[in-house]
Amino acid sequence: MCSDATDSSPRIGNTLPMTPPEPFPTDWTRGLVLVAHPDDPEYGMSAAVARWTAEGRHIVYVLASSGEAGIEGMPPSIAGPVREEEQRRSSAIVGVEEVEFLGFPDSRIVNDSELRDAIADSLRRHRPDIVISLYSGPEWAPGAPNQSDHMEFGAAVGATYDDLVAAVGVDAAEGRPRMWFESAPQPTHYVDVEGFVEPAVAALAEHKEYLSVLDPGTPVPEQARRQVESVCAPREDVAGDRPVVSFRRMRP
Ligand SMILES: [Zn+2]
Repeated sequence: MCSDATDSSPRIGNTLPMTPPEPFPTDWTRGLVLVAHPDDPEYGMSAAVARWTAEGRHIVYVLASSGEAGIEGMPPSIAGPVREEEQRRSSAIVGVEEVEFLGFPDSRIVNDSELRDAIADSLRRHRPDIVISLYSGPEWAPGAPNQSDHMEFGAAVGATYDDLVAAVGVDAAEGRPRMWFESAPQPTHYVDVEGFVEPAVAALAEHKEYLSVLDPGTPVPEQARRQVESVCAPREDVAGDRPVVSFRRMRP
């Protein structure tokens, strides 16, 4: 199994797709959300998760870190447990009961063999049909750089995914996710989240301690609503002008 020049699947850094995004696949039941930090699933992705769990799909969250470096003025030993608890409450709102923290150091995540082994272990244990992770490219938009943790972690997810496919083969039914998506700009797919924006707003608002320190001047529910409604804004070209969450297919 090696990639070749005819492989047209989207890759990080590709140019904008020429066609509007298509509806997200529905032929799957188990999804694994792999992200670097608490709150990473809550900026839009969780609206799609709320829909998926309402449809009876099983979603698990695995987070590389506990976000312990993310609350200014709070020691990591206190912030870590606070953020884990906020993440668990947040996840429960969108129907996710299984939330795991891998214990990698917040703000110092690197794509090394230890991280890739931990991701591979998650894939083997949860046996997802699809993997969803956070955007790993360099910029969300011109002048809006991505965080190093997100980029390193996303690269590790891709490398682990490819290793697993190489190890078990594309046709193996066992232990190999069939698709990998990032919640990303330049989308290839979208999920219509009409009716699921409110749970996503509530899920983000559960990160109370984190958000209240991040922006002390704006009430947490207001911050959450502004963020989620902006990420899930309707697109004119898809879903009949209903709110959508966008994803980019990274591997078939
Ligand atoms: Zn993050």
